[in-house]
Amino acid sequence: MRVDVVSIFPEYLAPLDLSLIGRARARGVLQLAVHDLRTWTHDVHRTVDDTPYGGGPGMVMRPEPWGEALDALAPAQAPPPRLLVPSPAGARFTQAMAHELAAEEHLLFACGRYEGIDQRVLDHAATRMPVTEVSLGDYVLFGGEVAVLVILESVTRLLPGVLGNAGSLDEESHAHGLLEAPVYTKPPSWRGHDVPEILRSGDHGRIARWRRDEALRRTAERRPDMVAALGDLDRWDRAALE
Ligand code: SAM
Repeated sequence: MRVDVVSIFPEYLAPLDLSLIGRARARGVLQLAVHDLRTWTHDVHRTVDDTPYGGGPGMVMRPEPWGEALDALAPAQAPPPRLLVPSPAGARFTQAMAHELAAEEHLLFACGRYEGIDQRVLDHAATRMPVTEVSLGDYVLFGGEVAVLVILESVTRLLPGVLGNAGSLDEESHAHGLLEAPVYTKPPSWRGHDVPEILRSGDHGRIARWRRDEALRRTAERRPDMVAALGDLDRWDRAALE
Protein backbone atom coordinates (compact mmCIF):
# COMPACT_ATOMS: atom_id res chain seq x y z
CA MET A 1 0.00 0.00 0.00
CA ARG A 2 1.17 3.50 -0.80
CA VAL A 3 0.40 6.30 1.67
CA ASP A 4 1.13 10.01 1.35
CA VAL A 5 0.55 12.41 4.24
CA VAL A 6 0.56 16.19 3.82
CA SER A 7 0.96 18.32 6.94
CA ILE A 8 2.50 21.59 8.08
CA PHE A 9 4.06 19.59 10.94
CA PRO A 10 5.74 16.60 9.25
CA GLU A 11 7.73 15.95 12.47
CA TYR A 12 4.44 15.10 14.16
CA LEU A 13 4.37 11.91 12.05
CA ALA A 14 7.77 10.70 13.32
CA PRO A 15 6.22 7.76 15.26
CA LEU A 16 5.45 6.20 11.87
CA ASP A 17 9.11 5.10 11.85
CA LEU A 18 8.61 3.01 14.98
CA SER A 19 7.43 -0.43 15.97
CA LEU A 20 5.38 -2.56 13.59
CA ILE A 21 4.56 0.32 11.23
CA GLY A 22 8.27 1.09 10.93
CA ARG A 23 8.92 -2.58 10.22
CA ALA A 24 6.14 -2.71 7.60
CA ARG A 25 7.80 0.28 5.92
CA ALA A 26 11.24 -1.31 6.08
CA ARG A 27 9.83 -4.48 4.46
CA GLY A 28 8.05 -2.52 1.73
CA VAL A 29 4.54 -3.61 2.77
CA LEU A 30 3.83 0.06 3.34
CA GLN A 31 5.36 2.79 1.16
CA LEU A 32 4.82 5.88 3.23
CA ALA A 33 5.92 9.45 2.53
CA VAL A 34 5.25 12.51 4.68
CA HIS A 35 5.22 15.88 2.89
CA ASP A 36 5.46 19.43 4.19
CA LEU A 37 2.57 21.48 2.79
CA ARG A 38 4.86 24.53 2.77
CA THR A 39 6.80 22.90 -0.09
CA TRP A 40 3.94 24.14 -2.25
CA THR A 41 3.99 27.78 -1.08
CA HIS A 42 5.73 30.50 -3.09
CA ASP A 43 5.95 33.55 -0.82
CA VAL A 44 8.83 34.40 1.47
CA HIS A 45 6.77 33.59 4.60
CA ARG A 46 5.57 30.26 3.17
CA THR A 47 2.01 31.21 4.05
CA VAL A 48 -0.61 28.49 4.29
CA ASP A 49 -3.49 30.33 6.02
CA ASP A 50 -5.59 33.46 5.90
CA THR A 51 -8.58 35.07 7.60
CA PRO A 52 -12.01 33.49 7.07
CA TYR A 53 -14.46 35.01 4.60
CA GLY A 54 -17.54 36.13 6.51
CA GLY A 55 -15.46 37.01 9.57
CA GLY A 56 -15.07 35.05 12.77
CA PRO A 57 -12.18 33.77 14.85
CA GLY A 58 -9.18 31.78 13.68
CA MET A 59 -7.57 31.22 10.32
CA VAL A 60 -8.43 28.98 7.38
CA MET A 61 -5.94 27.03 5.25
CA ARG A 62 -5.63 28.63 1.81
CA PRO A 63 -6.55 26.54 -1.23
CA GLU A 64 -3.50 27.22 -3.45
CA PRO A 65 -0.83 25.15 -1.62
CA TRP A 66 -3.31 22.33 -1.08
CA GLY A 67 -4.28 22.39 -4.75
CA GLU A 68 -0.64 22.12 -5.82
CA ALA A 69 0.08 19.39 -3.26
CA LEU A 70 -2.82 17.28 -4.50
CA ASP A 71 -1.83 17.88 -8.15
CA ALA A 72 1.70 16.66 -7.36
CA LEU A 73 0.69 13.63 -5.29
CA ALA A 74 -2.33 12.63 -7.36
CA PRO A 75 -1.41 13.52 -10.95
CA ALA A 76 -4.26 13.32 -13.45
CA GLN A 77 -2.57 10.58 -15.52
CA ALA A 78 -2.16 8.17 -12.53
CA PRO A 79 -4.89 6.07 -10.88
CA PRO A 80 -6.44 8.37 -8.26
CA PRO A 81 -5.73 7.78 -4.57
CA ARG A 82 -8.42 7.91 -1.93
CA LEU A 83 -8.19 11.29 -0.24
CA LEU A 84 -8.79 11.21 3.50
CA VAL A 85 -9.34 14.47 5.30
CA PRO A 86 -9.44 14.23 9.10
CA SER A 87 -12.24 16.42 10.45
CA PRO A 88 -14.48 16.48 13.51
CA ALA A 89 -17.30 16.86 11.00
CA GLY A 90 -16.40 13.64 9.15
CA ALA A 91 -17.72 10.08 9.24
CA ARG A 92 -16.77 8.33 12.47
CA PHE A 93 -13.69 6.12 12.06
CA THR A 94 -14.44 2.47 12.87
CA GLN A 95 -12.83 -0.94 12.49
CA ALA A 96 -15.11 -1.49 9.48
CA MET A 97 -13.63 1.63 7.86
CA ALA A 98 -10.12 0.41 8.73
CA HIS A 99 -10.85 -2.80 6.76
CA GLU A 100 -12.22 -0.76 3.87
CA LEU A 101 -9.08 1.43 3.78
CA ALA A 102 -6.75 -1.58 4.09
CA ALA A 103 -8.09 -2.74 0.71
CA GLU A 104 -7.07 0.52 -1.03
CA GLU A 105 -3.89 0.77 -3.12
CA HIS A 106 -3.11 4.41 -2.34
CA LEU A 107 -4.24 6.65 0.52
CA LEU A 108 -3.57 10.38 0.60
CA PHE A 109 -4.09 12.21 3.89
CA ALA A 110 -4.60 15.99 4.08
CA CYS A 111 -4.00 17.21 7.64
CA GLY A 112 -5.92 20.35 8.48
CA ARG A 113 -4.88 22.87 11.13
CA TYR A 114 -6.43 26.12 12.42
CA GLU A 115 -10.14 26.24 11.47
CA GLY A 116 -9.61 23.67 8.73
CA ILE A 117 -9.01 23.64 4.96
CA ASP A 118 -10.86 25.91 2.49
CA GLN A 119 -13.88 23.84 1.39
CA ARG A 120 -13.06 24.35 -2.30
CA VAL A 121 -10.01 22.09 -1.95
CA LEU A 122 -12.27 19.17 -1.03
CA ASP A 123 -14.89 20.08 -3.63
CA HIS A 124 -12.30 20.28 -6.41
CA ALA A 125 -10.54 17.08 -5.31
CA ALA A 126 -13.90 15.26 -5.36
CA THR A 127 -14.14 15.90 -9.11
CA ARG A 128 -11.16 13.60 -9.68
CA MET A 129 -10.75 11.25 -6.69
CA PRO A 130 -12.84 9.73 -3.88
CA VAL A 131 -12.78 12.02 -0.85
CA THR A 132 -13.70 10.96 2.69
CA GLU A 133 -13.79 13.27 5.68
CA VAL A 134 -13.09 11.14 8.71
CA SER A 135 -13.53 11.87 12.41
CA LEU A 136 -11.87 10.15 15.35
CA GLY A 137 -14.77 11.06 17.62
CA ASP A 138 -16.93 13.83 18.95
CA TYR A 139 -14.20 16.14 20.18
CA VAL A 140 -11.87 18.68 18.57
CA LEU A 141 -8.10 18.28 18.14
CA PHE A 142 -5.52 20.89 17.13
CA GLY A 143 -4.86 19.17 13.82
CA GLY A 144 -5.30 16.08 11.66
CA GLU A 145 -1.89 14.52 12.39
CA VAL A 146 -2.99 12.51 15.44
CA ALA A 147 -5.96 11.22 13.45
CA VAL A 148 -3.55 10.05 10.73
CA LEU A 149 -1.45 8.20 13.31
CA VAL A 150 -4.55 6.46 14.67
CA ILE A 151 -5.96 5.57 11.26
CA LEU A 152 -2.64 4.34 9.88
CA GLU A 153 -1.95 2.23 12.95
CA SER A 154 -5.28 0.45 12.67
CA VAL A 155 -5.08 0.07 8.88
CA THR A 156 -1.45 -1.14 8.78
CA ARG A 157 -2.04 -3.97 11.23
CA LEU A 158 -4.69 -5.32 8.83
CA LEU A 159 -2.28 -5.52 5.89
CA PRO A 160 -1.23 -9.09 5.05
CA GLY A 161 2.03 -10.10 6.69
CA VAL A 162 2.25 -7.22 9.17
CA LEU A 163 1.15 -9.06 12.31
CA GLY A 164 3.22 -12.04 13.39
CA ASN A 165 0.04 -14.01 14.13
CA ALA A 166 -2.83 -13.02 11.84
CA GLY A 167 -5.14 -15.02 14.12
CA SER A 168 -5.07 -12.06 16.53
CA LEU A 169 -7.16 -10.12 14.04
CA ASP A 170 -9.93 -12.70 14.18
CA GLU A 171 -10.25 -12.81 17.96
CA GLU A 172 -9.91 -9.17 18.96
CA SER A 173 -12.46 -6.55 19.94
CA HIS A 174 -14.70 -5.36 17.08
CA ALA A 175 -13.72 -8.26 14.81
CA HIS A 176 -17.18 -9.86 15.11
CA GLY A 177 -19.24 -7.12 16.70
CA LEU A 178 -18.08 -7.94 20.24
CA LEU A 179 -15.45 -6.76 22.71
CA GLU A 180 -12.76 -9.31 23.45
CA ALA A 181 -12.90 -11.41 26.62
CA PRO A 182 -10.34 -10.51 29.35
CA VAL A 183 -6.85 -11.93 28.81
CA TYR A 184 -4.34 -13.36 31.30
CA THR A 185 -0.74 -14.57 31.39
CA LYS A 186 1.60 -16.06 34.00
CA PRO A 187 1.79 -16.28 36.99
CA PRO A 188 -1.44 -18.17 37.72
CA SER A 189 -1.92 -16.24 40.97
CA TRP A 190 -0.92 -12.63 41.53
CA ARG A 191 -1.66 -10.42 44.53
CA GLY A 192 -4.57 -12.62 45.52
CA HIS A 193 -6.12 -12.64 42.03
CA ASP A 194 -6.24 -15.96 40.21
CA VAL A 195 -6.41 -16.75 36.52
CA PRO A 196 -9.84 -18.35 35.81
CA GLU A 197 -9.38 -22.09 36.27
CA ILE A 198 -10.92 -22.95 32.91
CA LEU A 199 -8.12 -21.15 31.01
CA ARG A 200 -5.64 -23.54 32.59
CA SER A 201 -7.72 -26.65 31.90
CA GLY A 202 -6.39 -27.37 28.39
CA ASP A 203 -9.98 -28.04 27.26
CA HIS A 204 -10.07 -25.95 24.06
CA GLY A 205 -13.80 -26.38 23.50
CA ARG A 206 -14.70 -25.11 26.96
CA ILE A 207 -12.12 -22.33 26.73
CA ALA A 208 -13.63 -21.13 23.43
CA ARG A 209 -17.12 -21.17 24.99
CA TRP A 210 -15.88 -19.32 28.09
CA ARG A 211 -14.25 -16.65 25.93
CA ARG A 212 -17.41 -16.21 23.88
CA ASP A 213 -19.55 -15.95 27.04
CA GLU A 214 -17.19 -13.42 28.63
CA ALA A 215 -17.08 -11.41 25.41
CA LEU A 216 -20.89 -11.33 25.30
CA ARG A 217 -21.23 -10.33 28.96
CA ARG A 218 -18.56 -7.68 28.75
CA THR A 219 -20.06 -6.21 25.59
CA ALA A 220 -23.56 -6.20 27.08
CA GLU A 221 -22.27 -4.39 30.15
CA ARG A 222 -20.09 -1.81 28.38
CA ARG A 223 -21.60 -1.49 24.92
CA PRO A 224 -25.26 -2.56 24.86
CA ASP A 225 -25.54 -0.84 21.46
CA MET A 226 -23.16 -3.46 20.02
CA VAL A 227 -25.15 -6.38 21.42
CA ALA A 228 -28.36 -4.92 19.98
CA ALA A 229 -26.66 -4.79 16.57
CA LEU A 230 -25.75 -8.51 16.69
CA GLY A 231 -29.28 -9.58 15.68
CA ASP A 232 -30.52 -13.08 16.47
CA LEU A 233 -28.40 -14.99 18.98
CA ASP A 234 -28.29 -18.77 19.36
CA ARG A 235 -29.43 -20.34 22.62
CA TRP A 236 -25.89 -20.59 24.06
CA ASP A 237 -25.29 -16.90 23.46
CA ARG A 238 -28.67 -16.01 24.93
CA ALA A 239 -27.86 -18.12 28.00
CA ALA A 240 -24.59 -16.22 28.49
CA LEU A 241 -26.51 -12.97 28.67
CA GLU A 242 -29.14 -14.18 31.16
N1 SAM B 1 -13.20 24.43 12.88
C1 SAM B 1 -13.26 23.01 12.78
C2 SAM B 1 -14.65 22.53 13.19
O1 SAM B 1 -15.23 23.12 14.09
O2 SAM B 1 -15.13 21.55 12.63
C3 SAM B 1 -12.24 22.36 13.71
C4 SAM B 1 -10.85 22.56 13.24
S1 SAM B 1 -9.67 21.71 14.23
C5 SAM B 1 -9.24 22.93 15.38
C6 SAM B 1 -8.25 21.63 13.19
C7 SAM B 1 -8.06 20.32 12.47
O3 SAM B 1 -7.92 19.28 13.42
C8 SAM B 1 -9.18 19.86 11.58
O4 SAM B 1 -9.12 20.47 10.32
C9 SAM B 1 -8.91 18.36 11.50
O5 SAM B 1 -7.91 18.08 10.55
C10 SAM B 1 -8.36 18.05 12.87
N2 SAM B 1 -9.35 17.48 13.79
C11 SAM B 1 -9.89 18.09 14.85
N3 SAM B 1 -10.74 17.28 15.49
C12 SAM B 1 -10.74 16.12 14.83
C13 SAM B 1 -11.43 14.89 15.01
N4 SAM B 1 -12.30 14.70 16.00
N5 SAM B 1 -11.20 13.90 14.14
C14 SAM B 1 -10.33 14.07 13.12
N6 SAM B 1 -9.65 15.22 12.90
C15 SAM B 1 -9.85 16.25 13.74
